[in-house]
Amino acid sequence: MKFRIGQGADIHRLIEGRKLILGGVEIPWEKGLLGHSDADVVCHALSNALLGAIGEGDIGRHFPDSDQRYKGASSIELLRAVMSVVKARGFRVGNADLTILAERPKLAPYREEMRANLAAALEVDPADINIKATTGEKMGFVGREEGMMAEAVVLLEKT
Ligand code: MG
Repeated sequence: MKFRIGQGADIHRLIEGRKLILGGVEIPWEKGLLGHSDADVVCHALSNALLGAIGEGDIGRHFPDSDQRYKGASSIELLRAVMSVVKARGFRVGNADLTILAERPKLAPYREEMRANLAAALEVDPADINIKATTGEKMGFVGREEGMMAEAVVLLEKT
């Protein structure tokens, strides 16, 4: 098969006393995402999209919470590890499109840096990565600032 498509989503709880890391960028904020790793929802959603495209389950299966090796892990590194699995299967990334759901802070100032980080991890041009952000309009867990969510779709091409 020449092309494969994958989608991924991830949610983490926002708490005080944690760093906020999205797309490998540390964003100064009063709260951060809770998780076993750095809880980077953007990298997790994208990793799941990549694994989905090659029919390899999800990151929970490849990098289990129960494994102490991944405690405090950098999710951009996990994304690179997932990409090496994709390459081993003979695929490269065509493009990826992401949406981050977060009430605050404004993410636009960090978008290009996130894009550059993700592009480097996926070994593509930043033009092949698109990052959008939306709020929860003060509704639901996103709107109440209880957590953040990210969604990703990716297209792979056979090399
Ligand atoms: Mg996660």
